[in-house]
Order: sequence, then structure tokens, then C-alpha cells
Amino acid sequence: MRGKISSYIDYHIHPGYSVDARGNVEEFTREAISKGLGKICFTTHVDLNPQRKVWDLYINLGGKYSRFNRENFSRYTEEVRRIARKYSSKIDVACGAELSYGRHFEDILLDFINGYDLDFIIGSVHCLGNVSITSSQEVFGYFRSHGLKELVQDYYSALYYCVDFGRFGAIGHLDCYKKYGLAYYGPQILTAHREFINPVLELMAQKGVGLEINTSARRKGHQEFYPSNEILEMAYRAGIKLASIGSDAHQPDQVGFLIPDAYELAQDIGFDLPGGIS
Ligand SMILES: [Zn+2]
Ligand SMILES: [Zn+2]
Repeated sequence: MRGKISSYIDYHIHPGYSVDARGNVEEFTREAISKGLGKICFTTHVDLNPQRKVWDLYINLGGKYSRFNRENFSRYTEEVRRIARKYSSKIDVACGAELSYGRHFEDILLDFINGYDLDFIIGSVHCLGNVSITSSQEVFGYFRSHGLKELVQDYYSALYYCVDFGRFGAIGHLDCYKKYGLAYYGPQILTAHREFINPVLELMAQKGVGLEINTSARRKGHQEFYPSNEILEMAYRAGIKLASIGSDAHQPDQVGFLIPDAYELAQDIGFDLPGGIS
């Protein structure tokens, strides 16, 4: 029987510290309150891949771009904690990060994770062979030199190590290769996971690594969220928990985007819901 959801969460929010986002922490928080969310988590991008030399290694400090370091990341965490205190009677505000995972810099990721007291860390595979497959500026170079099967196989093998790393609260936007891949390779990309995903799902269940439903796919013209309904059902059958639901907002008006729809879908599939049911 369906319970009533007492509190929606949005656990994937990029404030303006992320170089591809705009809006400050307070603006996002006020928007979340106005939409009736019970709890939000800021998850600014943290990309520490030493083999990449592009802008995603930077943090935006009020229009000034700096290489990520301990001091400027503390400005982010301190601001989130300050806003959390200011609005604590209206909403719970948590402080987290979205880490880009790569097997060749696990030591750097561990240093980061151990160095901060964050509430929640999303682990995402954004890059294959150090090329971002979620950036329109880079992805087509990758697509031109890789077939669909190669893309999906490479992605799930990178994701396997991301899960095996075992330090993330949730795996972000699990089938994000479809973001630009659907238009490039066609609809067969929507079933291409079938050949490769099972070892990843088994490992997630075994290690207790959770999944997120990321609603941003629907902002990009997709019919379903990340991951697709089929993958969500496979994950549920594999015994994987739903750790979070998030909008991947990059500007304040995107906070809470289709979050109630994601809850409804998760409930229909059978997941225990993050945020609580009364
Ligand atoms: Zn991401
Ligand atoms: Zn994100």
C-alpha cells in the first residue's frame, strides 16, 4: 500500500561554485523552501583527475576561477553550513560533493574524502579515457572514435571500479552516456546496458552502494530519468537500495525538478524511499 511522503529531498544540487552552474547557496535554498522540499544537499563538482587540464578542475569563487584546493573548498562548505543554520527552522540543508571517479587517482579521491566531514558524496563516472562524455564540447570526439558497444562496455567497466572503490553514498546518473549518446547512436543505446550491467548491479548490492534517481535527463529531452525505468527495475530486483533522488540543478529554478514524479516512480517499483514516509 502506498504511504504518504512526508518529506521530499533533492540531493544533487550545484551552486555557483561549480563552474557550469549559477546562483548562490541562499538562492537555491530559498527556492527549495518555496517548493516545499524537506531536505536538500549541495553537491558541488569536485574533479581531481590529474590527467585533465580543463576547466572542470576549477572552482568559481564569485566570478574568480581558482584551481581547486583545500582553502577554496572550505569557502563552499562554510557557506553551506552558514545557510543551513540560517534556514534550519524551514529546511534541512546538507553539505556534500559530486566526485568524478577515475581508477588512476583513487589515492587523491581518498585524501579528499578523508579530509572533509561531508554529509553525502555522489560518485559519478563522467570521463572515459580522460574525455568527458557528459560535456557537449568533448563527447563527440569520443563518439566519433568509438562504436556504441565500445562506449557502453567502457562505461560499465569504469563504473564497476567506481562501485568497487566503495566510498560513495550513491552512484550518480547511472546511464548518463545516453545524455548525448541517444541522438548520436540511436535508440539501441537504451538497451545496450543489458550485456554489461549485471556485474555492476551485483557488486552494488554486495557492497551496499546505493543508487540515485537523477531527474535532469528529463530536462535534456529524454523520456525517462537517469537511470532508465528498466535499469531501476533491474537494480531493485538485484537488492540495491535507492540512496537519493536529485535534480542535478545548475540554477535555482531547477531545484526540485520532477522530484515528486521520481518519488512516485520509485514507489511504484517498490524501493524504500529516501526522506521518509508517514
Ligand atoms: Zn554528474
Ligand atoms: Zn551533477
